Amino acid sequence: MRGPGDDPTLSEAELIGRRTAWFKVYTRQRNVFAPTGGGPCTCPCCGHTTLSERGRYEICEECGWEDDGQDDHVSAAVRGGPNGRLSLDASRSTTFTETDARSAA
Ligand SMILES: [Zn+2]
Repeated sequence: MRGPGDDPTLSEAELIGRRTAWFKVYTRQRNVFAPTGGGPCTCPCCGHTTLSERGRYEICEECGWEDDGQDDHVSAAVRGGPNGRLSLDASRSTTFTETDARSAA
């Protein structure tokens, strides 16, 4: 099935090949993990203690970051996982801008 961000000029085989290659790279990345029971854990994006574990795709209720294990060690990378085209740095920047705006209101 094609998504809205998929290149429409690619054949099905090319699309599957690209997705498979991306998935291999994505799953080989170094991630931060912390099991359930050791938390609450700090969200790598907004810094609030909103996560019950790390690296398990929990979504922060404060900022909306989905925790796939990305943290300071690769914060500038756009990984293309659940957070789409946002790097952790870019999401942090957006989060703090919105927080500052709310604080000033
Ligand atoms: Zn957060």
